[in-house]
Amino acid sequence: GDMVSLALDITAEVRSKEVLRRAKHRAEAASRAKSAFLANMSHEIRTPMNGVVGMAELLMETGLTAEQRLYADTIRNSGEALLVIINDVLDYSKIEAGKLVLHQEAFDLERAVLELVMLMQANARSKGLDLLVDYDMFLPSRFTGDPGRIRQVLTNLMGNAMKFTSEGHVLVRVVGMPFEADGQARLHITVEDTGIGIAPDKVQHIFGEFNQVEDAQNRKFEGTGLGLSISKKLVALMGGDIWVESTEGRGSSFGIALTLPVETPLDTELLRVPPGIRRVLIVEPNETSRAVLEKQLGVLGLETVACASAAAALERLEEVDLVLSDHHMREMDGMELAEALREGGHDMPVIVLSASIGSAEQDPARRFVQAVVQKPVSRPDLLAALRSVAPEAAEEAEASRAMRVLAAEDNRTNRLVFSKMVQALDIELEFAEDGAQAVARFQSFRPDIVFMDISMPGMDGKEATAHIRAIEERGGGHVPIVAMTAHAMDGDEAGIIGAGLDHYLTKPLRKEAILGQIREARPKAARPPEMPDQSDGARRNTGLAGEDMAAT
Ligand code: ADP
Repeated sequence: GDMVSLALDITAEVRSKEVLRRAKHRAEAASRAKSAFLANMSHEIRTPMNGVVGMAELLMETGLTAEQRLYADTIRNSGEALLVIINDVLDYSKIEAGKLVLHQEAFDLERAVLELVMLMQANARSKGLDLLVDYDMFLPSRFTGDPGRIRQVLTNLMGNAMKFTSEGHVLVRVVGMPFEADGQARLHITVEDTGIGIAPDKVQHIFGEFNQVEDAQNRKFEGTGLGLSISKKLVALMGGDIWVESTEGRGSSFGIALTLPVETPLDTELLRVPPGIRRVLIVEPNETSRAVLEKQLGVLGLETVACASAAAALERLEEVDLVLSDHHMREMDGMELAEALREGGHDMPVIVLSASIGSAEQDPARRFVQAVVQKPVSRPDLLAALRSVAPEAAEEAEASRAMRVLAAEDNRTNRLVFSKMVQALDIELEFAEDGAQAVARFQSFRPDIVFMDISMPGMDGKEATAHIRAIEERGGGHVPIVAMTAHAMDGDEAGIIGAGLDHYLTKPLRKEAILGQIREARPKAARPPEMPDQSDGARRNTGLAGEDMAAT
């Protein structure tokens, strides 16, 4: 019945907990202060850097000797390289300081991926790499999310994959996990490469700040070591995951998982393969591309036969309803294969997949081919081609299309003004924001006319025109390119026309002048740009005070 009591003095423990709590608080405050400091610094550095880069650019437009030009060019390039690093640091510290907000909007994921692939295609080709896309056939393409940030993450992963791969391929795969009831899709996007890979003990480490795999093999690659840590933080901000699987010496596969609301569900009607096509012969030398095509057609319910060359294809024609062939192949290309088929008395439709669609269109053997599809192949293009070659759809394919107009203009306001000026027209309009994009879009979009701003950051209008003319050299016919310049200086016109541009407009642009150029460029296959039932009065209210484009 007595009492036993035990007393324990925990004063020291309580005190030390309090000390730890304060220390944690201080550390967090210091970390926030560091991030805020970095963000401010980056911002403060950016502003004068823009002056340096901009002025170096302007300097290059003045009369310089070759030596001076080299110096100015170096200033500009170094400045731009620095801006890229500063942007990384700025992004990083913004996220750390909790200041980065996502801008949710509807966007087309398939298109975003294809555009990135197009942009990197030239680089891939020069390295001898195959850059491929495998977008799940049953996945919708329009989602709601922050397309800019998703693109940023993919650009980083794809850029790394290209950087650390010297032969083989880089494959972007997009698959959707079963849909959740609330209209969201769980997406897995993986970027797979056949590059140097990452050692197991380094794998976790690479998502940290300023961390690069340190070894002799890796030292030749440039970078800040911030890309993956930014990507990781961005993906986390979007509520997703990022991971990597890698085998040293064999390659890596970086993946991100995101759950995004579906903006437009997939129209399953589009996936219905027309009757009459059952067995498809695939001719594709690249093993990975071939596997992707086999899989894609397989899920559509088609039977496939796959060959690596035209010669092999000619041996395997039994019961084939359709031939789907790559364009550029060694020995016999896709166009020649079509010709050989017709000579052999085979009349099944042939679809050619081509990375240089212009040269395919110009090929004398084009008449033996029912459809040419741009590579990397988008699902809508592939499905449209399948429908167009089905027997009952043949006449429909003759119907004329709208004209395609490409405008390269780096200034956002001017892009808006341009789109307002042509908004009443029955045309397809795409923009490029710099010269490099203009070249990429020229290949993907196949415009009938290009409006080209001359001074743009990076690759300017004259350079972009030179690239486009070089592409046309390889086939594809001459597309008119109209220069748009801010100032008409003496001698400018000669310089511009000398650079391969066909026409010349000075800012402020006149709506009538733009219309005139578009009208003149119309090919026979396209409808006239003006809609017949629209009077001028109906078009007048564009929401802009004047209809002239401001000079910038
Ligand atoms: P950076 O590329 O600027 O160095 P990142 O954060 O993007 O910075 O990448 C960090 C490191 O991870 C790279 O330096 C490289 O060592 C490794 N790494 C990233 N991607 C790959 C890849 N696809 N293959 C091999 N190593 C990679």
